[in-house]
Amino acid sequence: MDNDFDIRGETLDQPDKEAESKLRPVYFDDFSGQVKVVDNLKVFVQAAKMRNESLDHVLLHGPPGLGKTTLANIIASEMGVKIKTTSGPVLDKPGDLAGLLTGLDEMDVLFIDEIHRLSAVVEEYLYSAMEDYKIDIMIDKGPGARSVQLKLNSFTLIGATTRSGMLTSPLRSRFGINSHLEYYDSSVLNRIIKRSAGILDISITDEASMEIAGRSRGTPRIANALLRRVRDFAQVKGDGKIEMKIAKYSLKALNIDKNGLDEMDNRILSSIIDKFGGGPVGISTIATSIGEDPGTIEEVYEPFLIKEGYIKRTPRGREVTSLGYRHLGRDAEGSQNTLFSL
Ligand code: ADP
Repeated sequence: MDNDFDIRGETLDQPDKEAESKLRPVYFDDFSGQVKVVDNLKVFVQAAKMRNESLDHVLLHGPPGLGKTTLANIIASEMGVKIKTTSGPVLDKPGDLAGLLTGLDEMDVLFIDEIHRLSAVVEEYLYSAMEDYKIDIMIDKGPGARSVQLKLNSFTLIGATTRSGMLTSPLRSRFGINSHLEYYDSSVLNRIIKRSAGILDISITDEASMEIAGRSRGTPRIANALLRRVRDFAQVKGDGKIEMKIAKYSLKALNIDKNGLDEMDNRILSSIIDKFGGGPVGISTIATSIGEDPGTIEEVYEPFLIKEGYIKRTPRGREVTSLGYRHLGRDAEGSQNTLFSL
C-alpha cells in the first residue's frame, strides 16, 4: 500500500522540507518543551564534552513530529561535531552501513531514523560498531573471501523510532541514553508557533496563535504546518495578518475540529461506534474498516486519541470512551455494555 508511511505530519504539510529546516531549532535553548528530556541531555552532553569523549548512544522514541530529528541535530551542534543522517529502510545492506561508519570522524553523530525498520543483518552488524567501535568487512569474493576487522572512530549513534516496542532487546540494550518524547501542551506549542511566525515574518495575534496551538494535536510539526496553511488563507482571503477570525475560518476549511482532531481521527472514532458498537475491537479490524494501515493507526493516530481520553486500550481491543461519544455529539447509550463491563 502506498500510504504505508503516510505519517501524520506529512499529510498536513506535504513534506515542505525547506520550511521545516528553516524552523528547526539548532541549539537546546531554541527547543521548547520536553523539559526533562532536554535537561538530562544537556547534562550528558556537557559531561561528555568535559571528558572529551563521544556521547553515549541515544535512543529517542515517540510519535512523529515531536522533535526527534531536531534533537539529534541539536545534540550534534552542541557537541560541536558533524552529523550523518540515514534511515532504517534505506540501509538494506551491511555494506551501506560500513560506508557510513567508516566515514565518521572522531565523536561524530550517526542518526538513524525509523531504526525499528533496520534489517536483521544490518542490525547485527551494528552491534560491534556500537559496542567496540569495530566492524568486520569482507574482502574478496568466492573461495578467497575473508573478513578483516576495521577499527572505527568513536561515534554516537542516535536512533529515532515511533515504535520502540518493535526494537529487539539486544539493540535496545546498546543505547546508554533512552528518551521518550511526549505530546506538547498548548502553551508550549503557542511559544513554538510564535517563534516560527517570527522566523517566517508572519504577523499573528496571541489569540490566533493560541487557537492554532490548541488544534495541533500536541505536535510541533502540525503546529508549524497549520501556521503555514493559515498564512496562505490570510494572504488570499484577508490582509495577510493572522487574527482569530481568519484562523478559525482556515482551520474549518482544513477540517480540523475544535479539539484538534482531524478527519482521520474522527473516522476512527465513528467507525468504532457505528460498526463495532463502540468496541472493544482489534486494531487491524478498525484499520480494515477505514482502509488504513494498522501500523499507522497504532503509531500515529491512536496515541493521541488515547492520551486525550477519546479511546482506551483494553485487553480485548480498543473502546470509545464517553468523551469520545460526546465529541462526536453521540449518545453514549449504545456504549453502556462496554462501559460497564470491566
Ligand atoms: P520527528 O523527527 O520527531 O518526526 P522533527 O524533529 O522532524 O520530528 O520535528 C518536526 C518539526 O517540528 C521540525 O520542523 C521542528 O522545527 C519542529 N519542532 C519539533 N520539536 C520542536 C520544539 N521542541 N521546538 C520547536 N520546534 C520544534
